[in-house]
Amino acid sequence: MNITSAIISGSKILRNKFIPSHQLDSEILMAKTIKKDRNYILLNSESVLNKNDLNYFFRLIEQRSLGSPVAYLTNKKFFWNSEFFVTNDTLIPRPDTELIIENVLNSTKQKNKINILDIGIGSGCILLSILKERKNFYGTGIDISKKCINISKINAVKLKVSSRLKLYKSDVDKFNLGKYDLVVSNPPYIKTFDLKYLERDVAEFEPRLALNGGLDGLSEIRKVIKKTSELIKKNGKFILEIGFDQKNRVIELLNRKGFYINSTQKDFANNDRCIISTKI
Ligand code: GLN
Repeated sequence: MNITSAIISGSKILRNKFIPSHQLDSEILMAKTIKKDRNYILLNSESVLNKNDLNYFFRLIEQRSLGSPVAYLTNKKFFWNSEFFVTNDTLIPRPDTELIIENVLNSTKQKNKINILDIGIGSGCILLSILKERKNFYGTGIDISKKCINISKINAVKLKVSSRLKLYKSDVDKFNLGKYDLVVSNPPYIKTFDLKYLERDVAEFEPRLALNGGLDGLSEIRKVIKKTSELIKKNGKFILEIGFDQKNRVIELLNRKGFYINSTQKDFANNDRCIISTKI
C-alpha cells in the first residue's frame, strides 16, 4: 500500500467514527509513522510503505478513532512560536491561551529583567513562550504535578530558556517564594459537574487535574487570586484565563483582593476568556 491509499483508508476509518478532522488527522499520523513532515507526504504520495509502518499507522488510527487526541499520539503541539512536547499528563495547549501571551507582550514593551510567575505551568506553553520572546525576562513556574514540572523542563531545554527558569512542584497554597512583577495563570476552571459534558477527546483523555475547578468552577481560581495577591509586587500585572461565564464573579474576587481591572478579552469564539488586572 502506498502513502496516499493508506491516508485515504485511515481517513475513512476516522470519518466513520465521526472525527471531523479525519483527513488532516490521518495525514499527521502518517507523518508521525514515517517520521517526516506533511510536505514530504504530499511529494512522495506514491511511495510504498513497509509492513511495520503500515501496522503502526493503523494502530495510531485506531487510537484516534477511540478519541485519543492527535497531540497525545504525536507528543507534539504547536503553540505561539514553538512546538511543545506534550503527554497525557499535561493539558494540550489551546490557541485561546495565546491571548495571555499577546497581553503580556503588549503590557511589557518597555520592561527589562522582570520576574514572572506562572501558576499551574503544565506543558510550559505560557511561560516558556514569553521567555523565548523576551530574552531578559526571568520565569518561575509551579505545578502540583511532578510530571508537568518534568515536561516543562524538557520544553525549556527545547526552547533554550532553561537558564532563566525556575520550576517548583508545589500546591498553589503552599508556595511562598519570591515577589513577582507579573503573574500569569490558566487554572482549572470547569465545574466538576460539567466535566462529563466536555467533548469526548477532552473528557476522556485530558488530565482532570488540569480541568476540574470544583463545584462552582472557581475553587482553583480563588486560590490563584489569593496567592497572586500575596506574591505580586505593587503595580504588578496579573493576566488570568477564565471560563466563558466567569467574568463577573472573577472581577469581584479580584476587586476584593485589591486588583484594578484593566480589561477583559474575548477568545476566537467570542467568549470572555482573559482578564488583565493590576495590583494596587
Ligand atoms: N499552563 C498550561 C496551559 O495553559 C496548563 C494549564 C492547566 O493545566 N490548567 O496549557
